Amino acid sequence: MTDYDVLIMGAGPAGSTLARLTATKGFRVGLFERKKIIGLPLQCAGLVSHRIMEVNVLPDEFILNSVRGAVLHSPSGIKLRVSKDRPEAHVIDRTAYDQHLAELAMEAGAELTKGTAVRDFNEKTGHVRVNGDELSADVLVDARGQSAAPSRYPARQYLVRFRDSEMDTDFVDLKVDSRLSPGFMWRIPIDEQTARVGVFGPQQNLKEFLKGFISDLSSDFEILESHHGFIPRPDLDLRLVRGRCILLGDAAGQVKPTTGGGIVLASRAAGVAAEVIQGVLEGDADLKEYEDACRKIHMSEMKNQMRVQRTFRLLSDKDLDHIFLKMKEYGAEDIISEYGDMDRQTPLIREFLKRGILFRIIPSILTSKVAGIWK
Ligand SMILES: Cc1cc2nc3c(=O)[nH]c(=O)nc-3n(C[C@H](O)[C@H](O)[C@H](O)COP(=O)(O)OP(=O)(O)OC[C@H]3O[C@@H](n4cnc5c(N)ncnc54)[C@H](O)[C@@H]3O)c2cc1C
Repeated sequence: MTDYDVLIMGAGPAGSTLARLTATKGFRVGLFERKKIIGLPLQCAGLVSHRIMEVNVLPDEFILNSVRGAVLHSPSGIKLRVSKDRPEAHVIDRTAYDQHLAELAMEAGAELTKGTAVRDFNEKTGHVRVNGDELSADVLVDARGQSAAPSRYPARQYLVRFRDSEMDTDFVDLKVDSRLSPGFMWRIPIDEQTARVGVFGPQQNLKEFLKGFISDLSSDFEILESHHGFIPRPDLDLRLVRGRCILLGDAAGQVKPTTGGGIVLASRAAGVAAEVIQGVLEGDADLKEYEDACRKIHMSEMKNQMRVQRTFRLLSDKDLDHIFLKMKEYGAEDIISEYGDMDRQTPLIREFLKRGILFRIIPSILTSKVAGIWK
């Protein structure tokens, strides 16, 4: 007999959520986390769409702020303001949230071992080496986060106190820069004075971008904390099932290609994984069904977001400024406000294509290249 039905490596949102869901079904679940204190250091802006409530738990006590819109900044500072009538997303206390998810997993019966990295595991046999001991499981789950992702972008984030102005806590700020594409810069307000300000992209000097962005927003600020991390590059061909092992969350590249956000996707995939694992352990499903199911829920949106990325990569700063001006001219702020969605960008893209806006806002010299991407 194996030591566990399910052995999960990594107690981030992905691993802990799956641990709770499978333990609730009555299975023997082992959850191994290399950190001594779950959730630290913080490597997240903590912005999750309202959809998190559909795919995971999020008690009110972990919500620091809720936002209903965004101010989009072009490289030269042209602004588009888009908003919804109701809160579109929540800014969460990510460290406390991760700890809460792990506690819920334990309450459901999962066995959590902290401060213990899984260094060696065999996908075929389900054997795992932990602290010199060999353990076995029927199903292994690689939820080790971005460190297990095949390819990733660096990210940096500061916690900043803005002393000279009060922020509108209903809005996040997002700034594009052609050198960062497919990344960007963000300011996510926690309260009127404090925000998480960050950047990701294929650049070494992210600190310079970040300091420039903060200085544009304010002349009197204080950096309270500094963090760095990585955002996986999604790979649609990545195999998510290998022998007895499945990949989940950042380890599986389950992040939105355009924003790098992964908590909602990982939570949804954990729900899918729990159902398939139950079927496998009860003898009426094949682990491969997990990969098919993930493709079904993620693939079409991921493909469209990757096309958005490819389009952005064609654009210089001058092109981006031109597009922002044209978007203002064609009333795009209203269209984005109506059809924009943090998680699902396909409806907005469809609307832009249907109204012929996409090809009116891009510089004409790029028309055939962009048409090639969207054909
Ligand atoms: C700067 C930044 C800002 C971000 N902002 C957002 C945002 O606003 N919204 C959003 O949705 N997403 C955001 N993300 C992405 C988000 O943080 C991830 O998508 C999310 O954490 C994925 O959860 P996970 O459980 O897959 O991985 P993780 O949260 O990384 O958890 C993996 C866990 O595995 C552990 N681990 C690693 N190796 C081992 C091992 N060998 N043995 C045992 N344990 C191991 C790690 O210590 C970690 O606790 C951001 C990322 C960065 C870097």
